[in-house]
Amino acid sequence: MDLYEYQGRELFERHGLPVLSGDVATTPEEARAIAEKLGVGVVVKAQVKVGGRGKAGGVKLAADPAEAQARATDILGMDIKGHTVHKVMVTTTAQIEEEYYFSYLLDRANRTFLCIASVAGGMEIETVAHDAPEKVAKVAIDASKGVDLALAREIVALAQFPAEVADQVADIAVKLWAAFVAEDATLVEVNPLAKLDDGRVLLLDAKVTFDANADFRQAGHEAYEDKSAVDPLEQAAKAKDLNYVKLDGSVGIIGNGAGLVMSTLDVVSYAGEEFGGVKPANFLDIGGGASAEVMADSLEIVMSDADVKSIFVNVFGGITACDAVANGIVSALQLLHDRGEDVTKPLVVRLDGNNAEEGRRILDTANHPLVQRVDTMDGAARKAAELAAAGV
Ligand code: GDP
Ligand code: MN
Repeated sequence: MDLYEYQGRELFERHGLPVLSGDVATTPEEARAIAEKLGVGVVVKAQVKVGGRGKAGGVKLAADPAEAQARATDILGMDIKGHTVHKVMVTTTAQIEEEYYFSYLLDRANRTFLCIASVAGGMEIETVAHDAPEKVAKVAIDASKGVDLALAREIVALAQFPAEVADQVADIAVKLWAAFVAEDATLVEVNPLAKLDDGRVLLLDAKVTFDANADFRQAGHEAYEDKSAVDPLEQAAKAKDLNYVKLDGSVGIIGNGAGLVMSTLDVVSYAGEEFGGVKPANFLDIGGGASAEVMADSLEIVMSDADVKSIFVNVFGGITACDAVANGIVSALQLLHDRGEDVTKPLVVRLDGNNAEEGRRILDTANHPLVQRVDTMDGAARKAAELAAAGV
């Protein structure tokens, strides 16, 4: 999950990192009230989960509360790279003298954590890395050792931070790492980390991504979720602990194993070309143990998607054998019927792998009017695409 800047600012503050005081507003009047409370000139910043807000006109200075209200009026409702601005953050302003860059991130390719630091901040780090790679310091962080003051000083030296800010940046590096670990983040990025005219170094922007795999031990993180921005089907799926992603096609997909589901999406897209560009409607991985209940929950989510015209259940039996999955499908359809759900969309089922024969026999015996069995992945994809194209 990515946080808004105002949430990141608050998180940094909670971890003892130096940030500007401020608050978030959804109306120009609220922005004015915050500016009045802060009692000085302020910055009004668009809150969207995309970079480059400054260049897009989403970051504006205001000398007094009336001007803060006017700038908030300009910025609220603005479109920044396809994101509509619904909130602005209002903070005290800072006289920036220098802009630096500092981040910690999970470096998946190298199976480590990485610190990226540069004295050339304020612009995109990719640009700096391209134009002046010597200005970008990259230091692998050993997860078991973390960042202590000694390593922080090494990073500061390597990135050639000016002597007068070295102590402050090193202190920030240590605290930011502590925050990164405590919050189970995969990214904390500060751009700019700014040196002000009074010599202080502050974190003036905040980009934070949480690792969703750690949600179970981060009870507080749920509060950061922007419920209004989440797709209602994805929300319903999450409540049922399903790995579901809404896509924009018309063939509902249910499969076991992320890899199989990914290739199912490809195969359906390919087969769909023949039928005027039919595409998958979702990603849904039911994982290993596909009980009737999980299958019922999955079918319910996929069937309740108004865009779905047909459903492709693609299962390769492994630890959970195909007969169990077939029984799951049959009971799931019964369960949905008993729940009073509207079960009307055609299902194409492909079963292969462990106990496939028995699974197929179970489906044939049940002889459900909505279920068609196709034994190859390509054939089933084609059938599902054809049914989706025919269904209106
Ligand atoms: P981004 O463009 O989406 O990364 O948004 P930032 O928060 O990084 O803001 C963009 C630029 O606006 C920064 O690089 C700064 O130059 C400027 N800026 C941001 N916050 C302040 C502030 O508090 N005071 C001043 N004077 N400038 C700021
Ligand atoms: Mn920035």
